[in-house]
Amino acid sequence: MARIFVVANQKGGVGKTTTTVNLAASLARLGQRVLLVDLDPQGNATMGSGVEKRGLERSVYHVLIGLCDIVEAVRASPAGGYDVLPANRELAGAEVELVDFEERESRLKDALAAVDARYDIVLIDCPPSLSLLTLNGLCAAHGVIIPMQCEYYALEGLSDLVNTIRKVHANFNTNLKVIGLLRVMFDPRMTLSQQVSTQLEQHFGEKVFRTVIPRNVRLAEAPSYGQPGVVFDPASKGARAYMEFGAEMVRRLEQLR
Ligand code: ADP
Ligand code: MG
Repeated sequence: MARIFVVANQKGGVGKTTTTVNLAASLARLGQRVLLVDLDPQGNATMGSGVEKRGLERSVYHVLIGLCDIVEAVRASPAGGYDVLPANRELAGAEVELVDFEERESRLKDALAAVDARYDIVLIDCPPSLSLLTLNGLCAAHGVIIPMQCEYYALEGLSDLVNTIRKVHANFNTNLKVIGLLRVMFDPRMTLSQQVSTQLEQHFGEKVFRTVIPRNVRLAEAPSYGQPGVVFDPASKGARAYMEFGAEMVRRLEQLR
């Protein structure tokens, strides 16, 4: 059975896509069969996996609307070693079109059931909102991974997300739980980063991943080459951190079983 994780945070630019793409590649390198689902109309995870988003004949949009089967839309990430259910701007339309569907929040969950035996892990990249698309991600998943920067306002947004997760747990998906908070774009020279990081550990304890992802320009450069950072420059600090994060996730998976 595939374990399904959604990478969520309603803020933009907090490292969701970078985390999804690099965790997918890291887990693939560790021998896991991985599917990355791009749920953001921006299609950054698609492009960052080396799949061209323009002119896609079939994408996650077609799957959600019921225009094709999931297996027809899945593509291989050439560099990443994992599969991708790609997205592009068309996906923005799904938000409106799905309103008329019954059980519109479980469209992705139902689609993923068809490929359950093919993958060990499914990772879902969300848009920067608590929209119907994100709700589909939360309803499909067993766990939420929350990337966050260690800055003052990061904590404020967190309570909105935690409340949403509680509501989804109560109303739609009793399997759902927060797997962990991942500190990303970490700058150890900043006192504030250190302080917020310590606060997170005190407040959330075991829910904070041990691995910390540093700010590293190689991670930001990799997408323009259509490669995950862990493939583009495996020796870089950022890549090494994401490889370590993959290993930490594998350990947690064993505990979850
Ligand atoms: P989101 O998906 O939450 O909007 P992204 O993953 O796209 O966030 O990251 C926002 C920007 O920050 C991107 O330009 C990305 O390349 C960059 N970035 C993300 N993580 C890091 C990091 N650890 N070090 C340096 N740049 C990063
Ligand atoms: Mg993104």
